[in-house]
Amino acid sequence: EVGMNAQDLGKILHREPAEIVKKLFMLGIMTNQNQSLDKDTIELLAADYGIEAVEKVHEDISDIDNIFAQEMEASKNSDNQVVRPPVVTIMGHVDHGKTTLLDRLRHTRVSEHEAGGITQNIGAYQVRINDRLITFLDTPGHAAFSSMRARGAEITDIVVLIVAADDGVMPQTIEAIDHAKSAGVPIIVAINKMDRPGANPAHVTEQLMQYELIPEAYGGSTIFVNISAKTGMGIDELLENIILEADMLELKADPKQKAIGTVVEARLSRGKGPVADVLIQQGTLRVGDPIVVGDTFGRVRTMTNDKGHQVKKATPAMPVEITGLNDVPESADKLVVFDDEKTARAVGEARAQQSLQKQRENTQHVTLDNLFDTM
Ligand code: GDP
Ligand code: MG
Repeated sequence: EVGMNAQDLGKILHREPAEIVKKLFMLGIMTNQNQSLDKDTIELLAADYGIEAVEKVHEDISDIDNIFAQEMEASKNSDNQVVRPPVVTIMGHVDHGKTTLLDRLRHTRVSEHEAGGITQNIGAYQVRINDRLITFLDTPGHAAFSSMRARGAEITDIVVLIVAADDGVMPQTIEAIDHAKSAGVPIIVAINKMDRPGANPAHVTEQLMQYELIPEAYGGSTIFVNISAKTGMGIDELLENIILEADMLELKADPKQKAIGTVVEARLSRGKGPVADVLIQQGTLRVGDPIVVGDTFGRVRTMTNDKGHQVKKATPAMPVEITGLNDVPESADKLVVFDDEKTARAVGEARAQQSLQKQRENTQHVTLDNLFDTM
């Protein structure tokens, strides 16, 4: 094991530590009994004793953040990458039209393109424009965006910044710009309420240029679209521009690798038990897959898409509601797939144990602090 010293090796090889140090000296390596040795030195010494040293790799399989990161990295070098839909969050000042726009988009989707589908609220949904899909996260606003980010979940590819044409840049508009910028997520500006008599998009554009959001007409590269979430004006143009932006970002994923995803929302359903709305980010999740989600585990029992239809598999950027978990996970929790249910259970149980332990420690600290406070 890397990091062992002459004393440790002496124990393993049933030799005096001094003998090990001497041996190493003969091999041209100066060390003492306590100095930790590198891999090459250990191998050299072992070979001298006629033993083959095998490096034991300590990989903590309960570290699902690490597994997630590895799968993310693996996709970059994969030959199986395909274009995936962009994941979009709508942000903007209160009353500038976030909810109205999300409703309009969902309605557009159902009435015009996917007739017959029953919309299901699963924290995210997909809209089709021409032959392309766009995934919208259903929780607008900054709190959702920053709490996901704070927990290491960066699932948004594009921010649509909605600004009311009759109100202009307001405090939360600036806050949204700051959030998107610090996350490195590109912004598309949607100037909303264009149907209102007081609409002044030129003024709004001028204001936004002070925040480095500069339209092409002024030599910048930010996309500006005039819309009315109420009448539907400009909505198709907005969708087309989201696709354009997504193409520039070259968003890709490998649907062939092991699935990873992030919980958007989770709850306990009376009929279905624990339910998690998950956004798949790499790979393909299938019914029956053994999974760990945050500190919970299980096997995917059912998957339901945003139209309320049962599906057997879910591909990158697709939001699905899954059942089959032993407990309710939290939003921003990560999902990873394991080879067998036994491992998934062991990892899930270990993680639940660890987080319980952490909670207890925190409670103890609080109690101690309180104690000192009252003394
Ligand atoms: P949010 O706080 O950003 O989610 O804003 P809402 O979607 O709740 O919209 C606030 C108000 O503005 C509501 O009364 C909407 O009906 C109205 N509204 C939203 N979009 C438009 C629009 O394009 N035109 C007009 N005239 N009103 C709109
Ligand atoms: Mg709202």
